Amino acid sequence: MTATWLPLPATGFGPETLPYGVVGDRVVVPLGESLLDLAAVLPPEPAALVAGPSLDPFLAAGPAVWAEVRAVLTDLLTDDRHRSLVERALRPAGTPRLPFTVADYVDFYSAEQHALNVGRIFRPEAPALPPAWKHLPIGYHGRAGTVAVSGTPVVRPRGLVGPGDFRPTDRLDIEAELGFVVGVPAAGPVAAADWREHVFGVVLVNDWSARDIQSFEYRPLGPFLGKSFLTSVSPWVVPLAALEGAFVDPPAQDPAPAAHLLPAGPGLDLALEVRLNGHVISRPPASALYWTAAQQLAHLTANGATLRTGDLYASGTISGDTPDRLGCLLELTWGGTRPLTLPDGSTRSYLADGDTVTISATAGPVSLGSVSGTVRPSP
Ligand code: CA
Repeated sequence: MTATWLPLPATGFGPETLPYGVVGDRVVVPLGESLLDLAAVLPPEPAALVAGPSLDPFLAAGPAVWAEVRAVLTDLLTDDRHRSLVERALRPAGTPRLPFTVADYVDFYSAEQHALNVGRIFRPEAPALPPAWKHLPIGYHGRAGTVAVSGTPVVRPRGLVGPGDFRPTDRLDIEAELGFVVGVPAAGPVAAADWREHVFGVVLVNDWSARDIQSFEYRPLGPFLGKSFLTSVSPWVVPLAALEGAFVDPPAQDPAPAAHLLPAGPGLDLALEVRLNGHVISRPPASALYWTAAQQLAHLTANGATLRTGDLYASGTISGDTPDRLGCLLELTWGGTRPLTLPDGSTRSYLADGDTVTISATAGPVSLGSVSGTVRPSP
């Protein structure tokens, strides 16, 4: 634990995490239940990067500046001679905004158990894993403009669920994922070994999915209208520097990956919890992700595709190999055939109007906060 002079309540972010977000027109660092106005405590040069209501300039500044700012913050919070400076810069809690401009959004499909389960549910007649799955991280380009901050209402989407049958989805689902936030742009391929020169940090992602729209449109991935209505992200970007204690070896990869996907880099051992109306329905294991963030970044740029500040790429639904560690209702209810029973006695195959889903994650003392959304009826 990092010792701090600052009295912090038991809940909220501590000095081990120091994530970044935007509340009102200020870039802030949440501490317990307060917010630290970042520009008010930094030296002039880095302060200029966080003077506006967005993380974009800070993300683009790169690893040396990211490390400098984190070192300044750690010093401020661990040496009580800075007490008056910090206390003058503390603000009351407020509602966070989407903290950066989402440039492009990519969603991968990198948890083996999830890919196996989805294949078995959607295409029982075919091999569960697509042929390329163990040779490269499969993904698709999503819709950056509908990535929204936690708390944004989830309006039940309408779509074609069969020939001529256009109506509100009745198979609205979640997908518990990690999202990697790109800071430094690239003009072409990024070597797997260089991923940390570009990736700043991590958010939690809920890739809301309409399974009936998805499966009529295109099985199994269905990356178009079954997904593009909304993707929610947690409001606090946790820097990779805070997560180094959670770096672990990824699962063994067999067959050996192609050269551009090596070195694999670390996996992340994060403990996720998925709550439906406050009740824990799953604890997906991030360490089960077969493909790493380094490999995903190397692959998505391998064809020369450029990278921009604010690019967001998500891991794909995180599922483990036991029924209490599955990252979506499609798997938790096995295609709706085994409904969940909630503590109030009600059952769910998929989400009902009024349901609230919250995904949270921790790694020891480090918190990733949470991403939450409540379902609203189709208008
Ligand atoms: Ca997804």
